Parts: sequence; C-alpha cells; structure tokens
Amino acid sequence: MGDPLQLNHIDMLSLEDGMTAKEMIEKGNGLTYNDFIILPGFIDFAADNVDLSSRLTKRITLKAPLVSSPMDTVTESDMAIAMALCGGIGIIHHNCLPEYQANEVLKVKKYKHGFIRDPVVLSPNNTIADVVKVKKEHGFSGVPVTENGKLGGRLLGIVTSRDIDFLDSKDKQDTKLDTVMTKFEDLITAKAGVTLAEANSILEKSKKGKLPIVSPQGNLLSLMARTDLKKSKSYPIASKDDNKQLIVGAAIGTRDEDKHRLQLLAQAGVDVVVLDSSQGNSIYQIEMIKYIKKTYPNLQIIGGNVVTIKQAKNLIDAGVDALRVGMGSGSICITQEVMAVGRPQATAVYKVAEYARHFDVPIIADGGIQSIGYIIKALSLGASTVMMGSLLAGTSEAPGEYFFSDGVRLKKYRGMGSLEAMDRKDAMGSAMNRYFHSEVDKLKVAQGVSGSIVDKGSALRFVPYLQCGLRHGCQDIGAKSLFLLRSMMYTGELRFEMRSHSAQLEGNVHGLFSYEKRLF
Ligand code: IMP
Repeated sequence: MGDPLQLNHIDMLSLEDGMTAKEMIEKGNGLTYNDFIILPGFIDFAADNVDLSSRLTKRITLKAPLVSSPMDTVTESDMAIAMALCGGIGIIHHNCLPEYQANEVLKVKKYKHGFIRDPVVLSPNNTIADVVKVKKEHGFSGVPVTENGKLGGRLLGIVTSRDIDFLDSKDKQDTKLDTVMTKFEDLITAKAGVTLAEANSILEKSKKGKLPIVSPQGNLLSLMARTDLKKSKSYPIASKDDNKQLIVGAAIGTRDEDKHRLQLLAQAGVDVVVLDSSQGNSIYQIEMIKYIKKTYPNLQIIGGNVVTIKQAKNLIDAGVDALRVGMGSGSICITQEVMAVGRPQATAVYKVAEYARHFDVPIIADGGIQSIGYIIKALSLGASTVMMGSLLAGTSEAPGEYFFSDGVRLKKYRGMGSLEAMDRKDAMGSAMNRYFHSEVDKLKVAQGVSGSIVDKGSALRFVPYLQCGLRHGCQDIGAKSLFLLRSMMYTGELRFEMRSHSAQLEGNVHGLFSYEKRLF
C-alpha cells in the first residue's frame, strides 16, 4: 500500500526551484553580480550550437555580445579591429585630439585582414645596429627601407636577416642599410588594391618572407609577412557593414566642441557614437542626442550612463538607439566612494533593461565584468551586450607597452576619471572631459584610479575564449541563444538564487594550500 502521505502529495510537489529575476531583484536591496547564482536547466543541444548574436543598438546586431570600453588604456584601432574580427565591437576613446580619434576610426574602416598597416620602416641612412634593435624589440628583422624612413615614402628595398647575418659583428654595426639591403629592383611587390587572396598567392609563390604593397608611384602602403600567412585564419563572424568593412564605435562628450569631433568621426565612417558620461541624465546629453539625430540620421547613438528608470526614460524619449548601464561598478572606479552616487550593477542592469525593452532599446551592461560568469549574469538579467575595460586591458591590442614588475608582465590600466587620465595633455592634446569640466571645475576630483593588469596575450585569442565559455554557460542554463536566455528570464523560466557570504566562498577555490589559476 505504501505511505499514503507520500502518494497523496507527490502530484502536488512543485518542481519550481529558486525565484524569478523580478522576485530576486525586488527582494535584494541592490544586488551585485556576486550576490546571486543562476540555477541550471535542461541540456538538449551542443554548446557549439549556441547562438551568441545580440543587438548592440536598434539597428546593429553583433555575432558576439562583447564591446570594448572607450578608455585610453583599452580601445584604439588595434583593439577595435580585434573586437570586430571576433564578432564584437570596439569603441575608440576620446581622450585625444579629434583628428587622432577620427584617424583611429579610419584605420578600422580601412583595415584589410592580413595586411600589416603600420610596419616598422627604416631609411637608407639607418644602420645594421638599428635592424638589430628592431629585432630585439619586435622579434623580426625583415624591415622595408623607404626614402624618408616612413610608411608612405618611396620604397627603396628591404633589409632581412639574410642581408645582415654575417655582418652583425661589432665593427660592422655602423654599416648603412643602403649598402646591404635587397634593392627595389630585386623585390617582389604587389600593387595597391590587391586582394588578400591574391597577395597570399604572390607571397606563397615568391618564397620571400615579406611582400610590400606599393602605390603606382612606388610608395610603400603596407606589408604582408609570410609568418602571418602561415597562421592567418579567417574570421567568419567578423562584424561588418554593408561595404564589408569592419564596424567601429567612438566616444564623444556633450560639449559644443564635440560637434566638430563628431563631424570628423562621421567623415571617417564611424558606425555608432557613445555619449560618454558617467551620469547621462542631463540636458546636455538630451540636446546632443537630438542634434545627432537631426544632423546624422544614419548614425546609431548609445546614451548613458544610466542606472535608474527615470534616467533611462529621458534618454529613450530623446531618441537613443541603446543605453549604457553602470555607475560605480567599474574595476578602476571610485565614484560610489567619492560621490555617494551609483547603484549595484545587477539591479541597475535588470531595472533599466526591464524598462527599455518596452521601447525596443538594447542595454549594454558596462563595468564590473570580471570573468565569463559575470557576462552570463549580465545577459541573463536583460543586457544585450557587455562592455569591458579591465578584462581586455592586458591584451596585446590594448594601447601601451608591457612592463615587468616582480617578474610579472603587466600593462597599465587606468580609469578615465583618474587624475592621470584627466591630466593627459601630452602630444595627444586636449584634456579628457567625462569626469572633468575645465570651465566649471577649478579642482579635479578623481573618480577613478590608475593601476596595472596582467598580460593576457592577444585579444584575437582571448575574445574567442570568452565566447566559448559563454556558449557553455548558456548550455548549462538550457538556452540555445541569447535571445532565448532573455525570454526565459522574462517568462520566469530562468531561476535564480541569492548567495550568502559563505555560498560565495564555497563557489570559489577553497581549502587548497596553493593553486595555479590558468584560464585558457
Ligand atoms: P571594468 O570593465 O570593470 O574595468 O570597467 C570599465 C568601465 O568603468 C568603463 O566602461 C566605464 O564605464 C567605467 N569607468 C572608466 N573610467 C572610470 C573612472 O575613472 N571612474 C569610474 N568609472 C570609470
């Protein structure tokens, strides 16, 4: 007969576990990503089949929901190219002269995969010692020689290790390249406009190490390297516009002079502008949005930053195509400490996304993304994409040189509201304006810090690693696409649970004497 109590109640047992995002956010008093966990779902598909496509703005869809932050230690053209090749997008910072920023945008738009756009170039008056130095610093010794020693100058020859390998004794170091280089007439070159496939085939047949691309006048335009050819692979999910050029964003401020900056950026072909403000709910931003909509109707506008529904409403009403959400959650950020204003990021993302979806405005969760898990959490609370600073700042594509400290290879990473960034008035020009308004503020109040971050290798490897992890996370949740992930959250199918302090400790490595945390 069995236990009648058990039989009677078995049908009534609820399979529902955890709580919905709405219940969780309403229960918690301002949640961070660390405060909660997502409960696993049912797997009936392979991780490889997870579709990571997601909208950046109303009109731009990315194949990967990843955006690099407009910070001067994160995104210039190299990062923006890497992000776009991997299916995301980079936003070029504006802590520089408008002309410099526009040129960085142009470099992305003009990028041709496989071509080295800024090769090291020497002049005929340089010496073997200079080539040895290049080899030491960059690891290669095949260097084009032009009349003026610059890219764009008339190509006179190439110096390679084979030209100098018997001449690197001390007494030969002063020998001018003019006398040792392989001269132009003996080089195999390709003409401007050559396609990647054509250039590859010429390089393959030539058996040479380098292929210079020259203009009809014989000026050096770019270079291809045999070593790159061997490792060159295609980027099938690259983010491209209708002309098959990579897409790119750029940040601007909301002052009158930013209209000139915007004009240069638009001429360079920028696809989307980010109105870069830590508190975006201002009359200045609303007016700028209206101005851009009227003057450049094809340009997509990302407004922000916002963390409340009221802030979001004003910018949505003004016409933004996406919103950037986050105040005080960035790794280098001291805004909450100094200004006492902001919001824990998980709550901010959920609240703004929940409001903005009624107007079809996608959300970018900006700041505080420390790992793949944080990306999944942001997306599972309604964000369409995430914006990252610290996670990308250690890659080789981030601006700045590596340096060593205690044997660790590092790169500088700083907040755009750090005193160091606000003071930037070097060769690049004017001061930054996101956190400092020179006409109003007599004294600067820092809202960010300056520090360093560990080497992560190339973004071309790191970003695909992030995507791979995202696919596995979605698989565990049972969401075959990011679109599905969001709908599961809004229907309540996606279940969450709060994490106590001890639960957070349990979720991290514990109880080991020592360990190595290698991620990929
Ligand atoms: P991370 O990914 O956690 O390093 O955060 C990057 C984000 O922090 C950026 O996209 C900005 O929104 C924000 N941010 C950048 N500089 C500062 C600063 O100096 N103070 C506060 N927030 C900043």
